[in-house]
Amino acid sequence: MKYCPSCGKQLADNAVMCPGCGHMFGPAGPAPKVADPSDAPSTGYGILGFFFPIVGLILYLVWQDNFPKRGKSAGKGALISVIVSVVLSIVYVIVMVIFMSIYGGYYIWD
Ligand SMILES: [Zn+2]
Repeated sequence: MKYCPSCGKQLADNAVMCPGCGHMFGPAGPAPKVADPSDAPSTGYGILGFFFPIVGLILYLVWQDNFPKRGKSAGKGALISVIVSVVLSIVYVIVMVIFMSIYGGYYIWD
């Protein structure tokens, strides 16, 4: 027994159309999106995403239907790139604060 995804009416298993609302569906429901068999995680696109996070993000969004693994590699590269740049800017700020406090101390005493 299955139910109409549109109106929730109970239907026969082999029904192709809902008698309640006219919703059409195939015997097995809508065909699931099949990923391209050539899809595979790609280190190259990961590196590309790392150096060009915007490109990695776009590839991730464009490929998430047909090449989810390859797109995920590109997206992961972009994500790592963003994390690394955030960490680096935090380290940079900390170093600058330490440097400025030391330098500022000398400056005041001078
Ligand atoms: Zn229905």
